[in-house]
Amino acid sequence: MTLYRGTILDTPEDPFTGGALRAEADGGLLVRDGAIVERGGFAGLRARHGEEEIVDLRGGLVLPGLVDTHVHFPQVRAIGGLGMPLLDWLERCALPEEARLADAGYAGAVAREFVAGLTQAGTTTALVFGAHFAPAVDALFAESARVGLRVTSGLVVSDRLLRDDLLTTPQRAYDEGRALAQRWHGVSRNRYAVIPRFSLSCGPELLDSCAALLTDVRGSWFTSHVNENVREIATVARLFDAEHYVDTYDRHGLVGRCSVLAHNVHPTDAELKLLADRDASIAHCPTSNCALGSGLFPLKRHVASRVRVALGSDVGAGTGFSLFKEGLQAYFIQQLLGDQGLQLGPAHLLHLATSAGANALGLDEIGDLGVGKRFDALWLHPPPRTTLDVALCNAGSTEDALAKAFALATGADIERVWIDGQPISGQGEPGGSALAG
Ligand SMILES: [Zn+2]
Repeated sequence: MTLYRGTILDTPEDPFTGGALRAEADGGLLVRDGAIVERGGFAGLRARHGEEEIVDLRGGLVLPGLVDTHVHFPQVRAIGGLGMPLLDWLERCALPEEARLADAGYAGAVAREFVAGLTQAGTTTALVFGAHFAPAVDALFAESARVGLRVTSGLVVSDRLLRDDLLTTPQRAYDEGRALAQRWHGVSRNRYAVIPRFSLSCGPELLDSCAALLTDVRGSWFTSHVNENVREIATVARLFDAEHYVDTYDRHGLVGRCSVLAHNVHPTDAELKLLADRDASIAHCPTSNCALGSGLFPLKRHVASRVRVALGSDVGAGTGFSLFKEGLQAYFIQQLLGDQGLQLGPAHLLHLATSAGANALGLDEIGDLGVGKRFDALWLHPPPRTTLDVALCNAGSTEDALAKAFALATGADIERVWIDGQPISGQGEPGGSALAG
């Protein structure tokens, strides 16, 4: 067993319904076979388990591994395409890059960059928009298995209104998805997800084939986009004879507990009610919403409607893999909404970046650092004399330290990352081993 010593913070109880930040200023976590078996003050744990190896993580914060509920594997190299609204950005920036993943060698290189980007950011679990090409999705699953990341992903499908080389057919989408799931669902920490790009680019027969695949692959997940941009919403309204955007998925049986829809910046009250009734989740992607000018996310209405919300980086419309940055941007957006906004504190931000994501993905074994959970964690330990180091050293409380982390932390401040108790180097260098120690 290993006894980890440090300042341990997590949010086992939802702060949006009264839960508070849980903190051990000088805490200990006893880990056996990747699972947390005891938690408490370090002195007490040390007295009971003096013979166990001690890993000293003082001088920083020990946090649960971050959970990214919306991120695009093929868009690592498309980050930073500024100055365009959604549909122009897709056409000029994202989709030409996605088409390059038809080349398996190119896709393999991007897969290594993508998984390294997540682990360097302290992300240990992600719901990932895969590629439009099955061999590229194989490359992603192979790389996530090699590194040990918890990935839920799959083939992205469309059959209209995108460039021709990204289109498929309902039968081919089903067959390729089924074969990918047979190769990867349940292998290492991979799970399969059914992923129509968005209903704008997916006809009814294709959505039916997605529903069949979701039923046939037991334990698979569903993800897509919804209500991101007003022009997109108007186009979807013209294309479908549906009640609203959420209904374009729901009428095919695609909205339920295992569904995560990204964005939902412009929902109607009827859509929020339906999402709550179906127990579905929303991935809120703050830097993407701001970069594309999509709008200011109505978090207060989601919380009031009891719709689950977690954070997504939405790379490459989002401006990087850091969920600290996404948390800060979520805070900014709520501030700008004034009376319509929700006042967020550091516990809300940590919850959105960890336990809320685990909950959205149905992964009860992760999300906080309580007894019984897997030891998925990061050690935020900034280099000496950096601004974050100064801020943490002078924080008035653990909650204050966490606020400073969301204000200032970058990937460079994350010294170590563990998944199931295994250290991950996070560098993901081509051909090299990602496991350290
Ligand atoms: Zn997206």
